[in-house]
Amino acid sequence: MNAMRDVRSVRIEIAGGALQSVFDECDRYDSNETGGRMVGHFALVRNTLVVRARGVIEPGPKARRTRTSFFQDGDYQTEVFRRIEAEDPTIEHLGNWHTHHVNGYPNLSGGDVATYRRIVNHDLHNLDFFYALLVTSRREGRADLDRYTVRHYLLFRGDEEVYEVDARNVRITDEATIWPRDVAVTEDRLQSDVGQRRLAVAVRAHDQRILEVIYPSLKPRLSARSETFFWKGPIALVDGTEAELRVVEVEDEEKLAYYPRVNPASAESGSLCEVPFRSASEAVRALESGLNRAIYKSAVGSES
Ligand SMILES: [Zn+2]
Repeated sequence: MNAMRDVRSVRIEIAGGALQSVFDECDRYDSNETGGRMVGHFALVRNTLVVRARGVIEPGPKARRTRTSFFQDGDYQTEVFRRIEAEDPTIEHLGNWHTHHVNGYPNLSGGDVATYRRIVNHDLHNLDFFYALLVTSRREGRADLDRYTVRHYLLFRGDEEVYEVDARNVRITDEATIWPRDVAVTEDRLQSDVGQRRLAVAVRAHDQRILEVIYPSLKPRLSARSETFFWKGPIALVDGTEAELRVVEVEDEEKLAYYPRVNPASAESGSLCEVPFRSASEAVRALESGLNRAIYKSAVGSES
């Protein structure tokens, strides 16, 4: 029944690229909690459970974050998981990762443990274990895979205990990362362009990963003439029409800001186009719901 009852030890193998994308996400949200899903494979080698984390599904554009709490965008993550599964039917949702480095709490909270217990004991949970990676602190002056400290935990179905995996049983591998998808093509292009600024590249690559799932019709572009970076393409609206969208990146006091533009323009879209957004995906989402709201309002108005 429960294959995990013979487990005597646990080994974690995590792809370096997956850990890198965890740390990139921590860099982006340095005052609020954030996290994501860990995907990969596992094996029972004699009495050792080997957990092979090969990818990380980002929290998604509707994720909600505060200093002490974090809720993921489940719809987005399910959509991504289906895409990965279509190419690799053996892929498993191994667990979650999240961060406490912003609130200084060095361990899983009572709430974290309660949530994980609920998941691992759920009938619909595929595996008899749940893997949790926790980022506990930032290491000043360190780079790359040394820039944060992490802890690894395992919970098992029907077992109240929370097991921490000793650092000696954790290995970082150079296996290819399953997700985020290799964005090298886009990134190479972006990097060879304006300024080579790391922040810009990280924000764009992150945006591109979200946009290519939710709004595949929007494509990244670079204007050779003005050296401006933008996304462009049609989005479908609730009444079946399409709006031609453009999100332009602007450098604003060392920070990047994103302004949406829409054709045909309307009063509703006009006001949304004046506010800067922190990312292109946020801008697209705001504009899409603004335009749909306007369509809905005018439909309701014409009926009365
Ligand atoms: Zn927590």
